[in-house]
Amino acid sequence: MIDFAFTENQLAVRDMAREVSAKVIIPGIEEFDRAAKMNPAVLPAMKEANLLGFCIPEAYGGLGMDYISLGLASEEMEYGDTSARVVLSVHIGLFSLPLLAWGNEEQKQKYLIPAAKGEKISTFGLTEPAAGSDVVGLQSTAVKDGDNYILNGEKMWISLADVADQFLVFAWTDLDKKKNRDHSGISAFIVERGYEGLTTGSIHGKLGVRSGNTGFISFQDVKVPKENLVYKEGAGFKIAMFCLDQGRYTVAAGSCGLIKACRDASAKYAHERHTFKEPIATHQLVKQMIAKMEAGYEYSTALWMKAGWLKNQGKRSTRATSLAKWIACREAEAAAADAVQVYGAYGFSDEYPVERFYRNSKGASIYEGTREIHTLMQADYVLGFRKDKEIDCELPVVEQ
Ligand SMILES: Cc1cc2nc3c(=O)[nH]c(=O)nc-3n(C[C@H](O)[C@H](O)[C@H](O)COP(=O)(O)OP(=O)(O)OC[C@H]3O[C@@H](n4cnc5c(N)ncnc54)[C@H](O)[C@@H]3O)c2cc1C
Repeated sequence: MIDFAFTENQLAVRDMAREVSAKVIIPGIEEFDRAAKMNPAVLPAMKEANLLGFCIPEAYGGLGMDYISLGLASEEMEYGDTSARVVLSVHIGLFSLPLLAWGNEEQKQKYLIPAAKGEKISTFGLTEPAAGSDVVGLQSTAVKDGDNYILNGEKMWISLADVADQFLVFAWTDLDKKKNRDHSGISAFIVERGYEGLTTGSIHGKLGVRSGNTGFISFQDVKVPKENLVYKEGAGFKIAMFCLDQGRYTVAAGSCGLIKACRDASAKYAHERHTFKEPIATHQLVKQMIAKMEAGYEYSTALWMKAGWLKNQGKRSTRATSLAKWIACREAEAAAADAVQVYGAYGFSDEYPVERFYRNSKGASIYEGTREIHTLMQADYVLGFRKDKEIDCELPVVEQ
């Protein structure tokens, strides 16, 4: 059965996200993006609107909403600005949902509930200075020492690094497996800001997501209690891939918000701007650019919704999520490039939002699996080089 109708609860989440976007994010965005600063009103507004935990079960401090709601909220956030959608991606997609699936009861009580209530901001640290796509190339280590693991290493390009209170991080616990690049030697840990030896810093001079925080985390002999090991030793790689399945989903849906923002801005300007005594909206080649934005929005939406439908049923969605992420990001980049084109020279200036859309659109083809990695994944599924196995955690099934 295919049903494109949204439930009342899904629409309520969408409307709440739309309101935060319109009232809090969009009004200040030019100023904050230009200054490369986070708008301090955004996180409190998201918390107030329950947007930091709405798809976590009520038993763990959320509203028990489903993955389609997460997609809708991601789209609305990114319609305002990419940096706001990134908050949903890392806080919910890369931290809270994975903890719901892989964490034990004590960890859920201690870390998931405050995250879902928006009391603690959370993020995900996988990438390192010398390891992004090549996850097994990471160098961080966590060596067991009595009741603790001693964590050393550096994480790079971490969203909300300077803002988050708690981090899901990945390190080698089996150093022999590290030498052999055997990913079953990687483990996942929850690490708190305030642990001695943990420092963070911000990256400056970014191309996009300028009103969001991106930075590094450094671990120098950080004592991580053994209770903070997630699931079991050696499960880190699988957990990281599970995290990316959720994060990528929010990037795919968010990219649809960016396409829509490009489409709406282009349509508005096309009616206003005249050349050769006509609004440019009447020129066929301008229409073509706007039509492509509309098509990209519609088929990218269909792809993330299919992935969300699989997720709602607790089915593995790696293939569908990767396809949705790859295509939606590609279409967002194309839409943003065309939006600048529709604006002509004015699109080249930060006086209009399309210049920001263009810069922001680039990041999503890099983070959460580059364009090339998703291209390879899709080919490998078709060619039979890649097959998804059952995951050994319990995937949450959400009532519709
Ligand atoms: C704004 C932003 C926010 C981010 N947030 C986070 C975060 O919160 N947490 C986190 O852990 N990370 C984060 N990242 C890091 C991001 O996930 C990595 O940048 C990404 O995984 C790519 O890794 P890399 O930059 O090291 O590129 P590399 O892996 O070094 O790749 C360089 C180039 O080589 C290509 N390439 C690599 N391997 C192959 C291959 N096998 N075949 C073909 N081409 C290949 C890539 O596609 C790319 O074009 C963020 C990055 C950005 C820009």
